[in-house]
Amino acid sequence: MTKFIEIEAKSILQKYKFRDDWFWNRYGVNPYRGCQFACNYCDAITEKYLVHKEYKNFSRTIYVKKNAPEVLEKEVKRRNPDVVAMSGATDPYQPAEKKYELTRKMLEILADHEFPVHIITKSDLVLRDIDLLRKMARQTWCSVSLTIITLNKELLSYLEPFTPSPERRLDAVDKLNKEGIQAGVDFTPIVPYLLDGPENIEEVIKRASECAQYILIGAAMTLRSNQRIRFFELLRINFPELVEKYKNLYGEKENPPQDYIVRLNGLAFEFCKKYGIKNYIEPPSFERPFKENFDVANHLLLIAFFKEFKSANPYSAWAYHKASQSIENLDESIKEIYKKGELKKIQGVGKSIVKIIEDYLTNGSSERLDKEIKTW
Ligand code: SF4
Repeated sequence: MTKFIEIEAKSILQKYKFRDDWFWNRYGVNPYRGCQFACNYCDAITEKYLVHKEYKNFSRTIYVKKNAPEVLEKEVKRRNPDVVAMSGATDPYQPAEKKYELTRKMLEILADHEFPVHIITKSDLVLRDIDLLRKMARQTWCSVSLTIITLNKELLSYLEPFTPSPERRLDAVDKLNKEGIQAGVDFTPIVPYLLDGPENIEEVIKRASECAQYILIGAAMTLRSNQRIRFFELLRINFPELVEKYKNLYGEKENPPQDYIVRLNGLAFEFCKKYGIKNYIEPPSFERPFKENFDVANHLLLIAFFKEFKSANPYSAWAYHKASQSIENLDESIKEIYKKGELKKIQGVGKSIVKIIEDYLTNGSSERLDKEIKTW
């Protein structure tokens, strides 16, 4: 039996230091704390995000930020429109949303103030808000990612006991796209030994390619603190033969080894090519001051995304993140700076990044990104 506790939030719109190169958001909002879907691999039960005293209550006690829409209304008036991730740590369309409708009310506010949005969910309840999403897609930008880690219902009954079926999620992706709302599949995490075989990876990508505009691949399932304890409990009870294998794969670390992640990402990349589906979300492009700076900054971030994806090293593209942020913060058009031959004066912009920017400003793309997209 789920317990709901209504609370008052002091603030709701969280601004991140850097733009995300997967979902393109600069802000995040979380109307709920805790999540009824109770996925056994969920990393939101780690201390980093958790507010519950006991992690086992994460899915049994849901804190509902009743005043979230009113707080958001005040906060968006003080901020410049930019992409909002919904939600950062829990599912915005978990069953509680049917009753409280906080996600819907917040979307109404974001739409009124022309804030773009990226939604990530496992629920087709997102279809309820299609009117608002359509409006946002027309005004600025909107993208919806439905998480699907397998089509295997038996395995899902262990890993995601309370989520809607993958078929319902694929159907939601299809309907959203047909309504003109960019929608794709989020294939994270790829659970070692249970879902990392080529058959599962190919099946998810193939099914996504039939209805989605993109599929995001996340081969790095973390195992941290509470998340690790809970996942090993699941293994001991239901998959005892995998306990030693997991210990060998992870050791004391939070992530599987880099070469394991690179191998799976590479395999998934090849299946994406085979089925003709992108493994990234196209950067948003919407009217804002110095839009050309924003477009160049996002072009660099997309290169960063590929570097990180192919190396499984989150720090491999640090220079691109820094250059991207400097460009986004400029108060002069990058085209004018380029005409004056002063690109190198921008903080964090070195010789190789100058070449990419020149290429992009001249051709609307860059050889560097084209290569990243086409080849492993
Ligand atoms: S839907 Fe997401 S937030 Fe909710 S339990 Fe599953 S992994 Fe965690």
